[in-house]
Amino acid sequence: MNKNLQIYNSHSGKKESFESINKGFVGLYVCGPTVYNYVHLGNCRTFISFDLVYRYLQHLGYKVRYVRNITDVGHLESDADTGEDKIAKKARLEEVEPMEIVQQYTINFHETMKRFNNLSPNIEPTATGHILEQIDLIQKIITNGFAYEAEGSVYFDVNKYNKSHAYGSLSGRKIEDLMNNTRDLDGQQEKRNPLDFALWKKASKEHLMKWPSPWSIGFPGWHLECSAMSTKYLGESFDIHGGGMDLKFPHHECEIAQGTSANCKDPVNYWMHANMLTLNGKKMSKSADNSILPEELFTGKNKHFSKSYNPMVIRFFMMQAHYRSTLDFTEDAINAAEKGYNRLFDGLELLQKVKTSDKSSESVEILISAFYAAMNDDFNAPILVANLFNAVKFINHINDGKASISSQDKIQLDKAMKDFIFNVLGLKQDTEIKSSKLDSLMDIIVDLRKQAREDKNWATSDKIRDGLQKAGIQIKDNKDGKTSWSSH
Ligand code: AMP
Ligand code: ZN
Repeated sequence: MNKNLQIYNSHSGKKESFESINKGFVGLYVCGPTVYNYVHLGNCRTFISFDLVYRYLQHLGYKVRYVRNITDVGHLESDADTGEDKIAKKARLEEVEPMEIVQQYTINFHETMKRFNNLSPNIEPTATGHILEQIDLIQKIITNGFAYEAEGSVYFDVNKYNKSHAYGSLSGRKIEDLMNNTRDLDGQQEKRNPLDFALWKKASKEHLMKWPSPWSIGFPGWHLECSAMSTKYLGESFDIHGGGMDLKFPHHECEIAQGTSANCKDPVNYWMHANMLTLNGKKMSKSADNSILPEELFTGKNKHFSKSYNPMVIRFFMMQAHYRSTLDFTEDAINAAEKGYNRLFDGLELLQKVKTSDKSSESVEILISAFYAAMNDDFNAPILVANLFNAVKFINHINDGKASISSQDKIQLDKAMKDFIFNVLGLKQDTEIKSSKLDSLMDIIVDLRKQAREDKNWATSDKIRDGLQKAGIQIKDNKDGKTSWSSH
């Protein structure tokens, strides 16, 4: 097995050869969702990116302990330790228990992950299930002199920490610049410094989720939860920590400070950050009405797109960009991905049928080693996909009599393609997805109908539309002049 894996470490800003701290498993921690809302497609991109990482590490033969938490308390509306708890706010507005909110959105999250064929983590700890570990961790940080109590809350002392460590080393921020950009204590006079962040917050009387602690009845800070849960299950130092790019600061920066000050060692060896998914060129954001839920795409019920898409096509679309690049979700791009998905599976199907010869005209070994080279280069899925298409081209050439393959090589190529398509990329063949042949046929029919309409030959254009309708295919003329179709 080729284990020459390079990972881009966001902390050092370079690609580094991957070496696991030898504990008998690779420790992988990924920040999970705050369960107060349905996960949108952008969130899913990050979780799919780390599913690819988990799958490839396993493919390389590593035993992986994959931990992805559920944030069910402590994530306040503002990063500056102000505002309501996101879950408590939703519970208040809907007049239900916070745990009903947690339950509803955790179930939705799991269902969505399943639709995208994401593997379950080995451990999925919740923040509310680890209050004792969080209190212990805070005590350790206080004992080591990096946190202080004020009015029942406990804050991390950023200035003190920065004297002996570099706060901001992950996100490349300097403490002086951060100070200049923070105007005042924003009503939080308990803090010694505006950059200090809460490890424990004293709860007000009306606060819904609270627990006793040595300092007050209160609740833990969001950053602390991930430190406590990752340490508990992966140790004081572990291999890989991942999350979306927007978690780099302050969330992950604070995790480094907490772990280092509690245990006198850097908690994480490789930091990985997945880049953002945009929708039609703009940041995906609920408040700007520019976000889409997976379910809206699966059903086709949304204002952005004229037809529905299968989760596997969406997953394949995501694989066509490197996890560190931004990716824009548009109608043209997802339609192209649908065609590509079909071409890939048609190629794999054709490989089963092609005749073998005495020898291969192309080196199958080189084709397969290119699959590994792509993934070993910081999980470069788009290059892997391009290399899989090179294999499809070769298969088509064999079928056309322009190339040949030995029976031994055919077995090898078949195994490698299936391994990379199903186990590494995590794709499934879905018979419901239109085949590329139907795609090409529909292109011709839609074109003929367009011509008939241009010629004002309404009888023919109606005949085509009605005939398709009878066959279970709906065609729709869109505002932009294009015609789309869907089959049910
Ligand atoms: P949250 O529940 O808000 O903490 O988000 C869950 C995960 O989704 C985090 O790792 C975020 O960084 C990530 N995320 C949020 N928005 C996007 C986006 N537009 N594209 C990709 N990942 C995102
Ligand atoms: Zn986290």
